[in-house]
Amino acid sequence: MSEEDHDKTRQQAEEIADHLDLPDELVDDVHEHLTDLKEGKAPVIWIQGQNCTGCTITLMDSERLRPGALVHGKVALRYQPDLMSAEGYAATDIIKKTEEEEAGKYILVLEGAIPTGEGEAFCTFGLTDTTEEMMGRMLPGNRSIFDWLVELIPGAEAVMAVGNCASFGGIPMMDVSVTGAGSATDVVQAVDPSKPVINVAGCPPHPDWITGTLMDLLLWVGEHKEAPILDDKMRLKRFYEGKVHDICERRKAFEDKRFVEDWNDLAEDEDRCLLKMGCRGPSTHADCPTRVWRTDFKWCVATNAPCQGCTEPDFQDKLPHLK
Ligand code: SF4
Ligand code: SF4
Repeated sequence: MSEEDHDKTRQQAEEIADHLDLPDELVDDVHEHLTDLKEGKAPVIWIQGQNCTGCTITLMDSERLRPGALVHGKVALRYQPDLMSAEGYAATDIIKKTEEEEAGKYILVLEGAIPTGEGEAFCTFGLTDTTEEMMGRMLPGNRSIFDWLVELIPGAEAVMAVGNCASFGGIPMMDVSVTGAGSATDVVQAVDPSKPVINVAGCPPHPDWITGTLMDLLLWVGEHKEAPILDDKMRLKRFYEGKVHDICERRKAFEDKRFVEDWNDLAEDEDRCLLKMGCRGPSTHADCPTRVWRTDFKWCVATNAPCQGCTEPDFQDKLPHLK
């Protein structure tokens, strides 16, 4: 790593330590883990189930830990299907290598829900040693993500569920009878309940929540700090303890009972409360109003869109349904 890269990484480490409220003496450890991430050494395997890839996209937008800045042409995490350059066996062999070299020490990141219906065939990647007949030809069998998880969960130090789908089932669970979608917790309970699951809820999660939780986990498994402090839904308290409503800039309008009641009402008063338009800020745990989603785009309510409660387990059931 060049001196310039080293200095940049040091600056990022200081920012992340500040962001996680870590003591100064842990900056060296954050720096070490960041360097490992940049060099593709951090024992992190990131796999995707029933997802839209929005969580990876939000990670790529991170202002603190931008994969572009992180990798600069290299693989950042050991395995990440959208960010890595390897494909086919070269890609899946990285998983095998990490399993062998880092047994019991890697972090398994799961993005998307896990389909368990119809032989788990709704979501696959890589191949099995068996063959399947298709249109008269014998082809290698597709390996289901559930099968990968049965293999990968026992060797993981911890599982990090990224996004509402992995954390709680999310949109794939809107009609669970179709694919039998489940969350990371559901699968871990079935495979090896001794493994801790940490949720990074959101649809998608704020990139700070992803990088902050990942760094907290790496510091914990590296025995540099105590276990992450979680709420009752296994989310890092640092990001999810408070409610959106309690820190919303339109809270005064709520108290004064100044509500938007019709989207066609073009009154100039732009800061009226969106409760009557379906805002779920009062029951949603997240720090969006103060963290903001990029300084230029702010956050949902600031752009006049009600909070949809995307960090909560039942978020998908309360979305407007097209019937
Ligand atoms: S806009 Fe939503 S979050 Fe903000 S004060 Fe109104 S109900 Fe609460
Ligand atoms: S304001 Fe609500 S819907 Fe918007 S990102 Fe935050 S938690 Fe999700």
